[in-house]
Amino acid sequence: MSVSVDRSAAAASDNVWDMAQRQLDEVAKLIGLSDAIHQYLRVPKRVLEVSVPVKMDNGGFRMYPGYRVQHNMSRGPSKGGIRFHPDVTLDEVKALAMWMTWKCALVNIPFGGAKGGVICDPKSMSLQELENLTRRFTTEISIIIGPEKDIPAPDVYTTPQIMAWIMDTFSMQHGYSIPGVVTGKPLAIGGSLGRDKATARGCMYVIDEAIKVLNRSIEGTRVAIQGFGNAGLHAAELMSKRGYVIVAASDSRGGVANAKGLDIAGLIAHKAETGSVAGFSGAERVTNADVLEYDCDVLVPAALEKVITRENAPRIRAKIIAEAANGPTLPEADDILFERGVMVLPDILANAGGVTVSYFEWVQDLQENFWEENEINDRLRRKMTRAFNEAYEQSQRHGVNMRKGAYAVAVDRVAEATKLRGLYP
Ligand code: GLU
Repeated sequence: MSVSVDRSAAAASDNVWDMAQRQLDEVAKLIGLSDAIHQYLRVPKRVLEVSVPVKMDNGGFRMYPGYRVQHNMSRGPSKGGIRFHPDVTLDEVKALAMWMTWKCALVNIPFGGAKGGVICDPKSMSLQELENLTRRFTTEISIIIGPEKDIPAPDVYTTPQIMAWIMDTFSMQHGYSIPGVVTGKPLAIGGSLGRDKATARGCMYVIDEAIKVLNRSIEGTRVAIQGFGNAGLHAAELMSKRGYVIVAASDSRGGVANAKGLDIAGLIAHKAETGSVAGFSGAERVTNADVLEYDCDVLVPAALEKVITRENAPRIRAKIIAEAANGPTLPEADDILFERGVMVLPDILANAGGVTVSYFEWVQDLQENFWEENEINDRLRRKMTRAFNEAYEQSQRHGVNMRKGAYAVAVDRVAEATKLRGLYP
């Protein structure tokens, strides 16, 4: 039986789930994936939709819709973050779960892919309300998570404190401490050194590799960063220390730029004080959209999906785009950028440092044996470099962009595991 794919409908849509499926469809053709396995991988294994009642500070309560999607478990327990954001949709969570499957396979860690999300606005909630929401959401999804089943982690607007509440809630329900149920925890309860900066560090490592194959040099390379959360802020910090020059940065409230380079320590202090990079002195004011098109060598989209479109792709000036965010580039934009010779380091590669150190955290928790930070960073560098080279080799071999190269490596690994395990019953 062949997979029926309505390409015209998918092509016209900017729905992220359509986009994730289209990315798989294209690679299935490229690597000659069998129809049966293609069909199997095109849909999630399991989708849990929950309603989360939360006691609010005013004495009332509110219902929040939430999801946990497990896309695939062929290579091991499923893994992926939980997002708290007003724009969460089930389709978005499905796409993010599928991307986690490819990401874990690409860096070759023994996990499948999952993702969770709650439709809420954490910025307008008190700490107590957030704790109530987290504990009840954990309870609702506790029937499918666990250290050997499915392991959540931080994602957009979820923090180490929120991971601590997840760990505590799950542990209380079982009667003993189970740190391996979630990663991205604070150090005091089984978190890993290096996890907070891992997404940014991994992103920098693959940018370093791209600079090498393009025969450029790090010193003075100009970088623009859209998004100043966990990934964007730490990327700015680590990359400026390494000799990159950060020329533009933005967050949800606006952005700042300086062609000669921003003072990153000052900018981070400003963000800590005011909650935003906007309004930082010694820099010109720019919008989020301006940052994407700012004159630079490397662009790091580190916020949300679908920001690089067929409209702005022709105007992007960077030679390298490193997707610290998940899904920032629409497929039409991918094609335009490839034709223009821009190297896009896809999300499943560029932001895989986070889940890689999550894997290290889970291993340390299970062994009850914790590693030094330099050991963690060394292991991360080796994983990221190998993944970059494998994806690059496939992209060269097939004459395709780095996303397809990375997908070729990842999908092939998941397909092999699926084939070996066979179909039950
Ligand atoms: N949320 C991160 C991602 O999208 C990390 C997931 C994890 O550590 O499990 O890759």
